[in-house]
Amino acid sequence: MKKSIVAMTSLLFVLMQGNLMAAGGAVKSPTGVAPDRYVYYPGTEALAKDEIRLFACGTGLPAARRSQAATCWLVETGNGDKFLFDIGTGSMVNVAALMIPYDFLNKVFLTHLHTDHWGDLSTLWAGGWTAGRTGPLKIWGPSGATEDMGTKYAVEHFLKSFNWDAKTRNFVLSAEPGKISVEEFDYKAVNKVVYKENGVTIRSIPAIHAGDGPVSFILEYAGLKIVIGGDTFPNKWYIEHAKNADIAIHETFLTPEDLVKLYGQSPQQALGVGTQIHTSPQAFGKVMSTVKPRHAIGYHFFNDENTRYDIYDGVRQTYDGPLSLATDNMVWNITKDNINIRMTISPDAAWSVAGPTKPPKPPAKGTVPDPITDYIKAGRWNVEDAQGPMIKEFKKEHNMK
Ligand SMILES: [Zn+2]
Ligand SMILES: [Zn+2]
Repeated sequence: MKKSIVAMTSLLFVLMQGNLMAAGGAVKSPTGVAPDRYVYYPGTEALAKDEIRLFACGTGLPAARRSQAATCWLVETGNGDKFLFDIGTGSMVNVAALMIPYDFLNKVFLTHLHTDHWGDLSTLWAGGWTAGRTGPLKIWGPSGATEDMGTKYAVEHFLKSFNWDAKTRNFVLSAEPGKISVEEFDYKAVNKVVYKENGVTIRSIPAIHAGDGPVSFILEYAGLKIVIGGDTFPNKWYIEHAKNADIAIHETFLTPEDLVKLYGQSPQQALGVGTQIHTSPQAFGKVMSTVKPRHAIGYHFFNDENTRYDIYDGVRQTYDGPLSLATDNMVWNITKDNINIRMTISPDAAWSVAGPTKPPKPPAKGTVPDPITDYIKAGRWNVEDAQGPMIKEFKKEHNMK
């Protein structure tokens, strides 16, 4: 398994250098095709009925950076469903590059309410609304110790804070896709079903992190089990319920030493954050050697040349099984027989792609109050001369009155 880490690392190195993509196998002819064992090109592969594709849309920390957004996992199941688990700051640009119609990205499961796990909801909400989502967003998330610490409260107030955004869009777009429905479930519930449809079952278990409320999720489909661990100190629920997982995702944090050296923390703070609030590499390894998944994934750290080997060494003190140390745009294809790990190659400039369903009609004239008053409208400068001919031409082309 060390071999695949080395392969991923050297591929990453190639990607970072901006060189040609790495390819595997043997090239048999100078004019032929090179096999591409390590590369996933979004939108080019059908998903088999009994297959799951897991995509890392965010693997970093609250201070999102271009190479790593904050937490986000996209799980695509062979029945056609897609589930976003967390939607951390910056993660939607990675999701957008997959060129998946927004209508297929309407199910979001939140592990907890730190911004690095839901900070990009605004992008999915308003971006998806303007780019073709035809119905409301659906969010599943945990309750809190008090009402104001739960997902329902958070989303209600999210919408309140974006009142201006919604009201101005409502005038020109259908209000439907701007709505968000929330399924809030008990954060204390252990292995209780929070979603069950079309052969997909999702359960939640409590996590131990920062305050009451955080959870982890367990998704089962086609006899496959994926555990999506949110931020947590190692906990008994994960140990019990992640057993027999095909993929077990769990946070592993920067080492206390690197938190001091690279993150500017005091030794005391580094030890607290790195070993008590979050999970150290050694503790992550202990969790995985106990759970024994088919494949373990560690994330939630800045994955760089000067950090990943420290984390890898820490994990290897306590776990010698299959392992990925995730960074953004890694992808895992999972079937009963195989787990294929690759990097996604996607264009920076990908636009959203329209789906099969047409967006709902905009509101009829006069049904939604005009958000611009006559006072402001009276300030419009006449550009009829400049754009009039273009508008006339456009109307003619599209048979408009
Ligand atoms: Zn957190
Ligand atoms: Zn976090």
